[in-house]
Amino acid sequence: MSFYNPSQLVSSFEESATLALSAKAKKLAASGKSVINFGVGEPDFNTPKSFIEAAFKAAEKGQTKYTAVGGTPNLRETVAAKISRDYRVAYSAEEVLVSSGGKQAIFHFLQATVEPGDEVIILSPYWVSFPEMVKMVGGRPIIVNAKSQRITADEIAAKISPKTKAIILNSPSNPSGLVFTREEVESYSKLLLNKNIWLLCDDTYYKLIYSPAEWVSPLHLHPELKEKTCLIGSASKSYAMTGWRLGWALGPKPLIAAMTKLQSQVTSNPSSLSQAAAEEALKNGDSFVEDFRKIFEKRRNLVISELQKIPGLQWMEPEGAFYIFIDFSKLIPNVTDFCEKLLDRDGVCLIPGEAFGAPSYARLSYALSDADIKEGIRRIEVGLKALT
Ligand code: PLP
Repeated sequence: MSFYNPSQLVSSFEESATLALSAKAKKLAASGKSVINFGVGEPDFNTPKSFIEAAFKAAEKGQTKYTAVGGTPNLRETVAAKISRDYRVAYSAEEVLVSSGGKQAIFHFLQATVEPGDEVIILSPYWVSFPEMVKMVGGRPIIVNAKSQRITADEIAAKISPKTKAIILNSPSNPSGLVFTREEVESYSKLLLNKNIWLLCDDTYYKLIYSPAEWVSPLHLHPELKEKTCLIGSASKSYAMTGWRLGWALGPKPLIAAMTKLQSQVTSNPSSLSQAAAEEALKNGDSFVEDFRKIFEKRRNLVISELQKIPGLQWMEPEGAFYIFIDFSKLIPNVTDFCEKLLDRDGVCLIPGEAFGAPSYARLSYALSDADIKEGIRRIEVGLKALT
């Protein structure tokens, strides 16, 4: 055995496929190749200036030291106030943990709740990190595959067992952009009312919803679920702050205390300057979010009208976030292979659906300019003709 062999833990999960392929696309672009990168899961907008200025001012005022582990009191108060408004359920600052991204908060939730062998229910197609993180904490990801594109409560119920520790809901979804309807939220919530199962609501994209969809949280319909729910949010996507690494979790005090304890031994606290920027974003950033949302909605419509020109493609109708999940099954047998070749041959990066639990699909992120969207989809059409 080589000294450098990774631990069993590292060998037990996959690296993030989205980050890996996107990195390859960036490398090709840096080497001079023209690349349209539909792989990146981040807004192409700059962080609004007022958020940056808030961080700058904080630095000048000397807020360059460690903060409280779970976040500054001001930011925790701000998150609690915003979430209480948006979810119509009262949260206090003690029920908030601020982390270095929603991703870290999700991981701490799983570390705090899952025992080895516990099952965590995940709806397919899913965000790449959910099953891998569950494996990292010794849990078993239990995937619900829909017969049609929308998952029914019965399909979820069939997967619930005495070992079920948590269910993860992600609406709007990465990778599909799907937003659960009120009826779906109601039927999913009912499954959990009388059970000791944690509900993890990953609401990273809840501010990016497009007409006619409406965003409904299980807590809107059943506030009593608050006692078993962990809400995840992030400054990354809605506020164009991916690089600042700032997200939050809200839940019952014992859960938040356990997650904070974990964070105290891992990263101590999220960046003090990112916290200052996020406070400004949450307090005064709504108009920026609305501007971004409108731009994404137009792009969503543009992507659909361009894709409609390519016969044989199908997709899940995106209602939120900035992704469209395209079904290539009528045109190509191996989508993973196709995505690799498409990047090398035509300079377009799509993320193969395999990593999201749907191998005949690929994810396209439309966080790009209109011109790049049109050119990228033209290249997909050219690539499809050449490679099929
Ligand atoms: N959840 C989902 C569904 C995501 O797509 C992402 C990022 O891609 C995250 C959580 C984590 O975002 P961050 O760690 O940047 O807050």
